[in-house]
Amino acid sequence: MNKSNGKDRAAWLQGPSAQCEVAPDNSKIPWRIVLLGAPGVGKGTQADLLHQRLGACHLSTGDVFRAAGSRSECEQSPAMKEALGYMRRGELVPDSTVWELVRERLACLQCSVGFILDGFPRTLGQAESLKQLLDSEGITLSAVLSYELAAGEIVARLSGRRTCEKCKAVYHVTERPPQVEGCCDRCEGKLILREDDRPEAIKVRLETYERSTAPLIEFYRKLGLLVQVAATGTPDQIFDRTVSELESRRIQVFAHKLWSAEENRR
Ligand code: AMP
Repeated sequence: MNKSNGKDRAAWLQGPSAQCEVAPDNSKIPWRIVLLGAPGVGKGTQADLLHQRLGACHLSTGDVFRAAGSRSECEQSPAMKEALGYMRRGELVPDSTVWELVRERLACLQCSVGFILDGFPRTLGQAESLKQLLDSEGITLSAVLSYELAAGEIVARLSGRRTCEKCKAVYHVTERPPQVEGCCDRCEGKLILREDDRPEAIKVRLETYERSTAPLIEFYRKLGLLVQVAATGTPDQIFDRTVSELESRRIQVFAHKLWSAEENRR
């Protein structure tokens, strides 16, 4: 469902009325991954790197809300306006709104390019709905990556984060500063502090994560899908860790399938 540069995601960002431009390559086994981790652990950056390596599409529910927020008021549905209010305060958008949005983008989950879900599911209700939908469609997840980092480091990362208003590239005031202060290296767009990266919103987001999203770690552990990754160090170091964990998981799954097939033959 993505363009050859993989950055299209039109059907995901705009909804089912939009079409991605280039047909997917059916010759590869798709990766279908869910990313878990508190806000600020770097899921978005890892999702982009994984997309470049694996080809699977980076599907972020936060990006869908931000894309809707950048449209004019009259183009926003009442449900979307309400959702944007929750987002500004750093609170979770209600499950029913998020689920409607994901369900109407089912084609993105079915796409043979695969997917990297970033920021969804975020509650047990969402995880259960996703499981039912994927089961009913015969779609299996390859892995659930859980990125782990101490709370103090998360706050430092989030409060220093700056995002390009235009291309959404992410910087950090001390760890990854742009060449010219306040200006994006890629497109010269203005770098801004996301509303939900303000200190009062960060506090709410971290509390919400602990209460609503952290229980998903156990949910996916029980399903045998959980892969834990330390989110310390540079994005490249975290990525190298991620890839080696995924490689060993794919070998394990492959070995398990071979073993089961062998058992069935006996
Ligand atoms: P993110 O970019 O993933 O941190 O998402 C930004 C904001 O969008 C969150 O703080 C929530 O307000 C909202 N949001 C994104 N995904 C979800 C979700 N799966 N469930 C509820 N709210 C969400």
